Amino acid sequence: MAQGLLIDMDGVIYGGDNLIPGADDFISKLVKMDVPFSFMTNNSQRTPLEVVRKLKKLGITVSEQHVYTSAMATGRFLAGQEPNGTVYVLGEGGLLTSLHENGLTMVETDPDFVVLGEGRNFTLEMVQRAVDMILEGAKFITTNRDPSPKKRGWNNLGIAATTAMIEEATGIKAFEVGKPSPVMMRSARKYLGLETAETTVIGDTMSTDIQGGVQMGYKTILVLSGVAKKEDLKKFAFKPDKIVNSVKDIELPLKWWESEKKTEAKPATGV
Ligand SMILES: [Mg+2]
Repeated sequence: MAQGLLIDMDGVIYGGDNLIPGADDFISKLVKMDVPFSFMTNNSQRTPLEVVRKLKKLGITVSEQHVYTSAMATGRFLAGQEPNGTVYVLGEGGLLTSLHENGLTMVETDPDFVVLGEGRNFTLEMVQRAVDMILEGAKFITTNRDPSPKKRGWNNLGIAATTAMIEEATGIKAFEVGKPSPVMMRSARKYLGLETAETTVIGDTMSTDIQGGVQMGYKTILVLSGVAKKEDLKKFAFKPDKIVNSVKDIELPLKWWESEKKTEAKPATGV
């Protein structure tokens, strides 16, 4: 059985523009041990190639196949729902590319879907148009609902804020694709070619990475190098399988990889 990892990036591999110490060695180790892994991110702004370039600057060399974004999950999901469907998009390059690659057509009137991603460039006029389209029957899709950091100097409002704005204006709740939605948690696993029992999620956020993993029956590892603090854990009804300070402290192979092997090796009994 090939055991593999879905690894969140922000707060796990880097914080802002800084590498989290030891993250580069951890990824090199995965490559050396031939462990299948994907970087699974809710951020829909960047294309996989842009993500690869960002990682390269931090000293991590991976290929585009190692990246799975909420934009990719959204493109695949919508293509499954409405092959050759039409979309009105409030978002950036990563999202536009994925929708295009999945056969969806961008339109300015009467779309099947209004799709919202992270963005710095759309105007309130565009938001107003999106609101009208939703009220006229377009389905409202948000790539994710990651909370804003609520601190100065961030480069956009945060997608939870823009999603809420449109929900309030329309009275219609968005369908959410990104973590913790099973849509993305499942398609990321499939993209990596793993089965449920072969999948471990590593993340820094209880309400997305860990909740998403727990809901799917994946193993989960919470790192404390990002959003979550140990004292926050009591606010949640679920817990990760393992908690570490950072990826540097994850020992490979994981202990449940070994026990999976043993279970597998056990001869079948009975009829
Ligand atoms: Mg994170």
